[in-house]
Amino acid sequence: MTQVDLVSRLADALPADRILSGERAGDYGADEALGAVAGTPGAVVFPESAAEVAAVLAAAHATGTAVTARGSGTGLSGAAIPADGGIVVSFERMNAILDIDVDNMVAVVQPGVTLRGLDEVLAPMGLVYPVYPGEYSASIGGNIGTNAGGMRAVKYGVTRHQVLGLEAVLADGSVIRTGGKFVKGSTGYDLTQLLIGSEGTLALVTEATLRVYPRPAHQATLLVPFPTMDAVMQAVPRVVASGIGPLILEYIDLLTMNGMVRIYDLDLGVPADVVATTVAYLCVMLESTRDERLEEDVQSLAETLTELGATDVYVLPPRAGTALVEAREKAFWLAKGANADDIVDVVVPRAAIAAFLTRVGALAEETGTFVAGCGHAGDGNVHLSVFQGDADKRADVMTRLFSIGMDLGGVISGEHGIGRTKKKYFLALEDPAKVDLMRRIKAVFDPTGILNPGALFD
Ligand SMILES: Cc1cc2nc3c(=O)[nH]c(=O)nc-3n(C[C@H](O)[C@H](O)[C@H](O)COP(=O)(O)OP(=O)(O)OC[C@H]3O[C@@H](n4cnc5c(N)ncnc54)[C@H](O)[C@@H]3O)c2cc1C
Repeated sequence: MTQVDLVSRLADALPADRILSGERAGDYGADEALGAVAGTPGAVVFPESAAEVAAVLAAAHATGTAVTARGSGTGLSGAAIPADGGIVVSFERMNAILDIDVDNMVAVVQPGVTLRGLDEVLAPMGLVYPVYPGEYSASIGGNIGTNAGGMRAVKYGVTRHQVLGLEAVLADGSVIRTGGKFVKGSTGYDLTQLLIGSEGTLALVTEATLRVYPRPAHQATLLVPFPTMDAVMQAVPRVVASGIGPLILEYIDLLTMNGMVRIYDLDLGVPADVVATTVAYLCVMLESTRDERLEEDVQSLAETLTELGATDVYVLPPRAGTALVEAREKAFWLAKGANADDIVDVVVPRAAIAAFLTRVGALAEETGTFVAGCGHAGDGNVHLSVFQGDADKRADVMTRLFSIGMDLGGVISGEHGIGRTKKKYFLALEDPAKVDLMRRIKAVFDPTGILNPGALFD
C-alpha cells in the first residue's frame, strides 16, 4: 500500500489533523534503546478514544498494515520501534485520568497518562501509585506494555501487581474489558495478566484500572558503603528478611557512584577515607506513616547492616537523599553519556546476585570487556552497562552473560522487556517449547501478525 493510500484509509478512522505522515512521522521511529536501528513509519495517528483506536486497527487489519503502539518512547529494548511503512498509534492524546475511587482505592486512567501526571493528581490526595521506573515521563500504557518495575518494586511489586483491569482493542478492531475495580477473580484465563508485558504484540490497551495506596508521610534514605561486593550482596536478602520492608533497596558499584557524584554534583557526606575502601554501596529508603516508627526502623536497620559488614551507615539529610535517588534514576543517561555499547537488566534470585556478578566479572576479564552497574538489588534485578566495541565479541559476551543469569535461575529481562534489541538472545536461549507456545498465543490474538511485528519474535 502506498503512503497516500494508507493516509486516506486512516482518514476514515480519525480527523486528518491527527494523522502525521512523511518526514515528521520519523520522529516516532525510535525509543531509548541503545544501538537500535530506528524504523520509518508510514503514518502516526493520535486517537482520542477506544473507538478511534478500534477504527484504526480495523483498517490496518483489512490491509495487513503493521501497527505499533507508542506511549512516551522511553523504553530501553526497542519495543516501540515501528515496522517500516507501518502505523504508529501514539497514545499521547489519550491522557485523561477518568476516576480516582478512594473507596475502592483505584485509579482508572487512559494509557497516555504519564507517571508524573498521575502523581501530580494523587499526591495532594495523600495517595500514591507506586510503580517507579527511573523515567517519570513514561506512560501507563508503556508501563503495561513492558511490565515496568523500578525501584519501589521491592515493596510494592511491579506493574502487573497493580493493574486490576483493562480495556483493550484487539487486532481486528474489537474491544474487550478484563478485570475491574476488584482485587480478585477466578473466572477463566487471566487476560489482564496475559496482556501485561506483551509489548503491544497482542492488543492495544485503551484504559487501565490501577491500585493506589495511602502515601506514607515520612521517609528516610540510608547510604551504606561496603568493602566488598560479596558483603553487599550477602546483606540484601538479610535486609529483605528483616521485616522492615524497605521502599527502595538498590546497589550501586563504586564506578557508577563516582560517576553519579561527579555528573550530578552529589554531596553525600561520605569521608574520603571511607570512599577509598568502598567497593559498592547499598542505598536503602524506608517509609512510614509515623515518624517515631521510622526512627525505630532506621536504628534497627543500621544495626543490622553494621553486623553484616557495612563500613558505616549514613542517614542522609532529606535533600541529599532525594538527590541520590534522582541520580540513581538517571544512571541510564550516565551509561549512555559514557558511550556504553549495550545495557542489561538480567534478573536472578536475589540471593544469587553475588554469584552472578562474580561470574560476569570473570567473563569480562576473559573477553576484555568493561562492565559496570547498579541495580534493584532487592528484586535481584542487575543493571549493567557493557562496553565492548567489537560487535561480534559483544554479541558473544551478551549471550554468555544472559546464559549465566538463566543458569542461576533468572531470566533475560527483569523489566525493560525483549523488544527488538534483546530478541536474538531471547530466541536463542529461551526454552523453544515456551517460545512456540507464545507464538501460538500471538497467532490467536493477531492471526495476520500486524501488532508490533519485529518485537519479541521475528
Ligand atoms: C532514564 C531511564 C530510566 C529507566 N528506568 C527504568 C526502570 O527502573 N524500570 C523499568 O521498568 N523501566 C525503566 N525504564 C524504561 C521505560 O521507562 C519503561 O520501559 C516504560 O515502561 C516505557 O514507557 P513508555 O510510555 O515510554 O513506553 P514506550 O517506550 O512508548 O513503549 C513500550 C512498549 O509498550 C507498548 N505500548 C505502549 N503503549 C501501549 C498501549 N497503550 N497498549 C499496548 N502496548 C503499548 C509499546 O508498543 C512498546 O512495546 C527507564 C527508561 C529511562 C529512559
